[in-house]
Amino acid sequence: MFVDGLGIGGTDPAVNPLAGDRYPQLKKLIADAIPLDACLGVEGLPQSATGQAALLTGINAPEIMGRHIEGFPPPALKKLIQHENIFAKLNRLGKTSTFANAYWIDDPHRIPLRRQSVTTVMTLSVLGGVRHKNELLSGKAVNHDITRWTMHTRGYTGELISPETAAAHLLNIARDFDFTLFEYFLTDHAGHSGNTELIETSLGDLERFIPEIAAFSEKPNHLFLLCSDHGNIENIGIFTHTRNPVPLVALGTGSETFRSCTKLTDVSPAILKAFKSC
Ligand SMILES: [Zn+2]
Repeated sequence: MFVDGLGIGGTDPAVNPLAGDRYPQLKKLIADAIPLDACLGVEGLPQSATGQAALLTGINAPEIMGRHIEGFPPPALKKLIQHENIFAKLNRLGKTSTFANAYWIDDPHRIPLRRQSVTTVMTLSVLGGVRHKNELLSGKAVNHDITRWTMHTRGYTGELISPETAAAHLLNIARDFDFTLFEYFLTDHAGHSGNTELIETSLGDLERFIPEIAAFSEKPNHLFLLCSDHGNIENIGIFTHTRNPVPLVALGTGSETFRSCTKLTDVSPAILKAFKSC
């Protein structure tokens, strides 16, 4: 699971919403997590396009691009993502991958260029298409907001679902693949907005959703991973990203492979190593 804008913050609950007692499950997961450097030796605040590329390719994207790049990857970075992403590398090992997120679109092969995030680029280039409306409505995709609460403004007329039901959908999807990726980015939006309601909704949903999917790691030969691209929501005193380390949660079979990780670019090689040894 990839969570955007989630760093390891300080102990003051007035600054870090994860420091108090409101989200005990998340608090424990982060306290036990491996801290990873997200700055990667490049000046400036870490950003999403290069951070996600570093996490999901294992290559120091901000160093190669000469700066941290926000939002959606530009053409040169897209090319790197297309060739070096974790789906492509697992594919070369004969392992299957999927991206569980739903896209509220009619044609799963056509996503406007301006909306192609790192995960969209890797999904289109390796898997050919994304999960879309039909899959979401039949519980075979998970909406980025977990419960579908943002979807009513986009023409979705169905029910909201609970974080537990969304987790069950994700676990069902994961049953059919060697590697399943789910991306949650409202944490980053919430951190930028400073909107208390959005911060509480996103952390509250994660508090219920993550333990359900982390339980995946309790089955034999199953590994659960959670990581972020940069800090943000752990410091609500500012509206920008932070230079805080990000948490890498690794639970289950092969989790020891991740103990030596110290930076974002270590995660993808460790995933490949874990797959090679099983
Ligand atoms: Zn951001």
